[in-house]
Amino acid sequence: MELEIVTEDIKEILKDAFKDLRDDVIIEVYTKAGLNDQFNDFTVSLIKGISKLTDKIKIGFHRIGDEDSIKHGIQRSPTVLIAPDKYTIRLTGAPLGEEGRSFIMSLIMASTGMGILSEESLREIKEIKEPRHIEVFVSPTCPYCPQQVLYAVSAVMAKKDMLSLDVIEIYENRDIAEKLGSLSVPQTFINDTLTGQGLQLEEFFVSSLITGKLPEFVLPEFLTEKGPVEKDIVIIGAGPAGLTAAIYAERAGLKTVVLEKANIGGQVAITPVVENYPGFTSIVGKSLVDLIAAQASQYTEIHQGEEVKEIEKRDGTFNVKTNRTMYITKGIILVTGAESKALDVPGEKRLYGKGVSYCAVCDGYYFKDGKKVFVIGGGNSAVTDALYLNSLGAKVTLIHRRDKLRAEARLKETLSKTGIKVMFNSEVKEIIGDRLVQSVSISNNKTGAVKIVPADGIFIAIGYKPNNSLAKALGLTLNEEGYIKVDERMRTSMSGVYAGGDITGGVKQIVVAVSQGSVAALSAFEDISSPYWKKETPAK
Ligand code: NAP
Repeated sequence: MELEIVTEDIKEILKDAFKDLRDDVIIEVYTKAGLNDQFNDFTVSLIKGISKLTDKIKIGFHRIGDEDSIKHGIQRSPTVLIAPDKYTIRLTGAPLGEEGRSFIMSLIMASTGMGILSEESLREIKEIKEPRHIEVFVSPTCPYCPQQVLYAVSAVMAKKDMLSLDVIEIYENRDIAEKLGSLSVPQTFINDTLTGQGLQLEEFFVSSLITGKLPEFVLPEFLTEKGPVEKDIVIIGAGPAGLTAAIYAERAGLKTVVLEKANIGGQVAITPVVENYPGFTSIVGKSLVDLIAAQASQYTEIHQGEEVKEIEKRDGTFNVKTNRTMYITKGIILVTGAESKALDVPGEKRLYGKGVSYCAVCDGYYFKDGKKVFVIGGGNSAVTDALYLNSLGAKVTLIHRRDKLRAEARLKETLSKTGIKVMFNSEVKEIIGDRLVQSVSISNNKTGAVKIVPADGIFIAIGYKPNNSLAKALGLTLNEEGYIKVDERMRTSMSGVYAGGDITGGVKQIVVAVSQGSVAALSAFEDISSPYWKKETPAK
């Protein structure tokens, strides 16, 4: 019996998405029996399933070794070509999980001819005069990957005579990933040179495509200043706090925009499972933020890849300058969240992306099936990551510097049931490896004994530090740890500026972030629009 991957509810979603298809799109699948069979079967079933939903998708199946596979130089199984009659866009691996998402988007883009890059970017790309082969390394669980893939697909569509793309899944193609030292995703190479680690800003992706090098951390020249765009509230950060603030502010009648320099969803997007958000017994973090983002986007624009460079306070308004334009706004909600803390041990920086990771959801998939990984930390994040990696089949050891875990009781109970080894009173002294992580030096802080143990991956989950550079530049009052000080209405020390979520410190929970986002928006509404019920009555 044939595998049925496209379930009834997925069919409905896809049918709706395929309404926009314009031109026919050819999808060719290349497989070789005995090589990644499980992924071959999945891919064949998926492509057959989606082709039944529209007459615009024309499918072809090939064996590796046949004439067409030789023509395209295909050796890996499975390999999928998208619109090979028009473009050189190849997916080396199965379109699973997040890759399935970017695959569907790519085929829609190939059919409609509409990508996701701005006109400025497209103008620049059209000037490219030498061939560029783009490789984007991805994994099915990486929420940052689809955006990077879609930048690359859009670029190829804009300059098909010079640009070609290979999207490579790292678990099915471990040998390629290991050869290039690309164990974290997304990683982007242009003509075999590393040009991007992680999701890039659109401008940096385009700049690296033009130069063929890692982008310089200055904005490329082609970004001309545009605007101004007038808003009531500019919300900086698209995590749960920012998205909720947008829903509340727009419903109150304020014109908003949400600016997000990286990925929509913040830390929750990379949380394997959430079990304490009311209404959901258990939900994948990315699915939860997708729901919140879908609701928010019914009210507001969410600009992914737009980074705030400068905020200037004027008389009663703010000028918010970004890498794309300038906004004039009456208020700002700063919901910039927090980022992972580094261990600061030798080898950590050098081997980042080569076995060292701060994102188990993004990078864990590569370590499936018995790779030896160490998770560092003793809080909720470390235990959640350890459980997730264990569920993938990695051989997990948790290393914690104290003799008891800080994580909540429920997580500790689950951890002990799994039999994951925990090394207490243990500290990582060095991460060792030549091109990739090979071992880790661990010292027992009670006995002083040091041992070096073989390791494939090191996942660091030792808490967060605030993303406070904009808050600092504005001169907001921060606490001693660098979090923004707010009052009970989420007002900061500067009138017109509000904050919420992880950037305010305190209890870092999704429910707290969404609640603070709503309070910030309602305070902004009261301050900006002076509703009649808040007007001061003259003293009698
Ligand atoms: P956390 O609660 O601050 O815990 C950090 C852990 O890392 C602690 O165990 C700490 O050790 C250890 N640590 C810190 N610096 C270290 C260093 N230099 N070397 C070795 N170990 C170090 O951070 P988190 O686990 O990332 O959680 C952050 C917030 O997110 C928390 O509020 C948490 O509740 C929330 N969160 C919640 C969930 C959930 O509810 N399911 C999931 C993830 C995160 P000590 O114990 O010795 O200080």
